[in-house]
Amino acid sequence: MRILVCIKRVPAPGARIVVEPDGQTIDTANLGFTISPHEECAVEAAVQLVEQHGGNVTVMTLGPEGAEEQLRHAVSVGATDAILIPAGERDWDPQATARALTDAIGDAESDGAFDLILFGNESADSGGYQVGVRVSRALGRPMVNGIKGIEIGKGVVTLRRETDGGSELYELPLPAVVGVKEGITLPRYPTLRGRLASKKADVRTFEAGEQPGGQSMVALANPPEQVKQTVMLTDAAAAVDVMEELGLL
Ligand SMILES: Cc1cc2nc3c(=O)[nH]c(=O)nc-3n(C[C@H](O)[C@H](O)[C@H](O)COP(=O)(O)OP(=O)(O)OC[C@H]3O[C@@H](n4cnc5c(N)ncnc54)[C@H](O)[C@@H]3O)c2cc1C
Repeated sequence: MRILVCIKRVPAPGARIVVEPDGQTIDTANLGFTISPHEECAVEAAVQLVEQHGGNVTVMTLGPEGAEEQLRHAVSVGATDAILIPAGERDWDPQATARALTDAIGDAESDGAFDLILFGNESADSGGYQVGVRVSRALGRPMVNGIKGIEIGKGVVTLRRETDGGSELYELPLPAVVGVKEGITLPRYPTLRGRLASKKADVRTFEAGEQPGGQSMVALANPPEQVKQTVMLTDAAAAVDVMEELGLL
């Protein structure tokens, strides 16, 4: 099987995000970067499928040069090929992002289609839920999002999505596109051998053409700071006062 996983470099969770004064970008100088938990699980699911059925896993990202770090991490946990689409200085809205990915997929498929293309359910930063859907539509392939189970059959893939009351099963003809949800499986840690392989891995680049998008940026803004106040209750009388205030006595 040939499986492609699309991953996106995002600021590590919990980082303090500083918006630049022009309101158009964030200051990335002191940020650590990662990919979303959905995408980590998608990489792991792809590696497990290939362990079961044979084949290879390619990872692809549109991002800055530094996104090589996320591609190499994916190689350290079992991906075999990595493709970087350099983002350069252009603005990339989700429409343009999806077009660039679609073009790069077309190029990578010159020697045969990917049986499965996996996306995260949504990215960990802007979380627009649309890149995977746009790519699947552009490729004319079926897609289901929110997937927590993947089983490969003869020319088909069976996908499981959890619902409040149970689960839904979908059977799609291959090649297909899947939006993977965190929890489908537990991502593994890289082995020493994997780390060494990732350092030596050849990261191919694909130069995206001009990709006009449909959106324009107004401004980024930080949410208002949440102020938390802690009151130390040093004696029983103070505790009684607070309980009365809360209507508990
Ligand atoms: C007007 C505008 C300008 C913008 N300019 C920039 C910019 O200059 N630079 C910038 O970094 N962002 C920019 N953004 C944000 C960027 O468009 C989105 O982050 C990106 O398109 C992905 O959309 P999303 O985060 O909503 O992903 P979702 O649709 O939530 O992502 C779903 C899945 O798609 C895949 N995916 C998403 N993005 C990528 C990617 N880049 N590479 C590989 N797979 C991916 C992942 O598997 C992800 O889990 C801009 C957004 C707007 C609206």
